Amino acid sequence: MFNLILFGPPGAGKGTQSERLIDKYNLVHLSTGDILRSEVSAQTELGLQAKGLMDRGDLVPDEIVIGMIKSKLQGNGDATGFIFDGFPRTEAQAEALDALLQDLETSITMMVALEVEEEELITRLLKRGAISGRSDDQDKSIILNRIEEYNAKTAPIKNYYRAQNKFQSIRGLGSIDEIFDRISGSIDLVI
Ligand code: AMP
Repeated sequence: MFNLILFGPPGAGKGTQSERLIDKYNLVHLSTGDILRSEVSAQTELGLQAKGLMDRGDLVPDEIVIGMIKSKLQGNGDATGFIFDGFPRTEAQAEALDALLQDLETSITMMVALEVEEEELITRLLKRGAISGRSDDQDKSIILNRIEEYNAKTAPIKNYYRAQNKFQSIRGLGSIDEIFDRISGSIDLVI
């Protein structure tokens, strides 16, 4: 199996690039943000628990997202690989993911991190919010909180994958095609 973590701050382009990568490499896309948003719109118990935190731009508790990923992994036993988008976001999530993949007798192949500077992230997210209507993309203070959460809790897990020689950094500026070529280039060196 080829299991990729597409990493980066909110607005780095993970969702856009994932859509193309799933086609090229025949992967199943697991986005915890997408799963949570569908739970919120279906007004499930889990969605109700998560909504307030998401509206503020705070992280949802580890147990919730780990449980979601666990059931998606179990429900896709025939996949040839996964793209993890927006997960893991804490060291506890990274450790839990390793354990879940070990149960499936597989592991993370690599982490590709999209590097984009903060000003550009804010511009992209506000633009996306205006088009999609997504409320956490429309308010600058919520965006800044999400970036802060990323810097404080999420960015440090790069070291977790660096220590395993699985970390690749990619410049996340340029056209969608250019960035896709950079990501594919680094994947093709590994698989
Ligand atoms: P995203 O679409 O990845 O930007 O996620 C939107 C929101 O969902 C985040 O601001 C968090 O509130 C929540 N969320 C998504 N993925 C995670 C995760 N792995 N851990 C904790 N919270 C998450």
